[in-house]
Amino acid sequence: MLALLDFRVRQRDFLLEITKAITAQLDLSEVLRRVLYASLAMLGGQIGLVALPDSSGQYRVRAVEGIPPERMGELTDRLVEMTELVTAGADFETVDSHLRTFIAGVDARMVQAFALPMMMGDEPRGLLIVGRSFRGGATPDDVQVLQSFADQAAIAVNNAQLYERIDQERRRFAAIVQHSADGVMVLDAQLQIRGFNRALERMTGWRAQDALGLPEGEVINWKRVERGDLTKAIDDGWPAAITEPGDKTLYVEGDLVRRDGLTLSVGIRYAPLMDAEGNLSSIIANLRDITNFRQAQEMQNTFISAVSHELKTPVALIKGHAATLRRDDVEWTPNIVREYSGVIEEESDRLTELIESLLTASKLQAEGGMRLYRSEVRLDHLAERAVERFKQQAPRHKFKLIFPKQYPPVFADEGKLRQVLDNLLSNAIKYSPDGGLIEVGGQAAGDAASVYVRDQGVGLSDLDQDRIFERFYRVDGALSRRTAGTGLGLYLARAIVEAHSGTISVVSAPGKGATFTFTLPLTPPRAAE
Ligand code: ADP
Repeated sequence: MLALLDFRVRQRDFLLEITKAITAQLDLSEVLRRVLYASLAMLGGQIGLVALPDSSGQYRVRAVEGIPPERMGELTDRLVEMTELVTAGADFETVDSHLRTFIAGVDARMVQAFALPMMMGDEPRGLLIVGRSFRGGATPDDVQVLQSFADQAAIAVNNAQLYERIDQERRRFAAIVQHSADGVMVLDAQLQIRGFNRALERMTGWRAQDALGLPEGEVINWKRVERGDLTKAIDDGWPAAITEPGDKTLYVEGDLVRRDGLTLSVGIRYAPLMDAEGNLSSIIANLRDITNFRQAQEMQNTFISAVSHELKTPVALIKGHAATLRRDDVEWTPNIVREYSGVIEEESDRLTELIESLLTASKLQAEGGMRLYRSEVRLDHLAERAVERFKQQAPRHKFKLIFPKQYPPVFADEGKLRQVLDNLLSNAIKYSPDGGLIEVGGQAAGDAASVYVRDQGVGLSDLDQDRIFERFYRVDGALSRRTAGTGLGLYLARAIVEAHSGTISVVSAPGKGATFTFTLPLTPPRAAE
């Protein structure tokens, strides 16, 4: 009797030990392995498994002992039926007979089996099945001990699952941060860098391993701050000082000095994270490269001043000539009247043209496309007429037309193509201020016809060649600054050519003149016919 009591005490000690060991573990597969190992040891079992419900509630085997892999498929099917019985609390006889068939089906040497639902309160969290090759009695006390072990195991499994989920969330969050296109930096309450993602490495030139642990100010090195100041805000009590609900973030914008000495325009939004007591625990800083945005803004500003200038010049000329003609104290000869009215008319045309370009550009921007009114167009004739017109404005230039006799017509929007030719010709004149030859020619090959405009002017660098077709882009040089223009001409020319399914390109080198060529298909796309 004493010996039996001693055995029971030892069994409980063992159970307590093992339960402690299991609850201390946070790795789910390790918890399951230990639970299974302890159950087999307690029951003297040879085979066993632990099944847990997946997210859809379906039980799946998560740990096995003594079951060969080739039996697993069959086992999964039977498990469904088994778990339904056990978790639904079917009577002992039914469960027992099913269980025996189940376990014998898995391994014919097994003669006795135990199924223990792992419960957390009323909720089944898993199922433990153990089979053994001998038949032995189990007292109600034994069963109770086993059941309480299974319930402890359920708690351990639950903890491990929670930890796994948190760990997954943490990894998912870390991956999002790591791969975010924006720079992300995590700071602790002392403003030391605790997190630094890849985009930030690219933006600042700092490697995460070098930046981590440094004070924020050492890595975020401002050359010029346009708005916001993190240190000052913190001195003023940010974020606790902001008591009203809503956005507590702080925005700082300016130019940063990268580690390699280059500068970069950035906007940084600092978002504070508070702990349960309302103290600052960390700050998530989001950095965005606003260089392009700044450039676009600058381009827009240059554009506005260029347009204003372009509008002012003809208006001043019109006003001046009209005011002169209106003078009551002078009798103007018919020649003067004709000449001055001619200037007024020309300048009005210039204004109309400019307004037309502005409208087309803004429509293009808003609608993303362009409507074409097609008819048969002779590009060689268009070019000839354009050259005639421009000749009068450019006495220092020589013009040459080179079109083959059999130059094919295209089916296109005549007005818009005239705009393209006018723009290329006026640029050729504007950007060859010392005069020279301007050659306009055409070629037809296969299914396409092309037109080129060649000058002997200032030419273009490779870098500028890549950008001149952008909206508002003007080459930053003394000549462009002296020359009237809005940076819209080539943008519109490309839009028009592309609307015709054509292409436009430039071949040039600084000081070597430029050749602009556009090519249009001879057979227009069906949709436009
Ligand atoms: P803009 O109104 O400034 O002339 P464009 O869009 O027509 O605008 O041209 C954009 C820029 O491309 C010009 O500012 C000029 O610097 C450059 N460019 C255009 N055509 C030529 C050319 N034939 N030779 C050299 N540079 C040119």
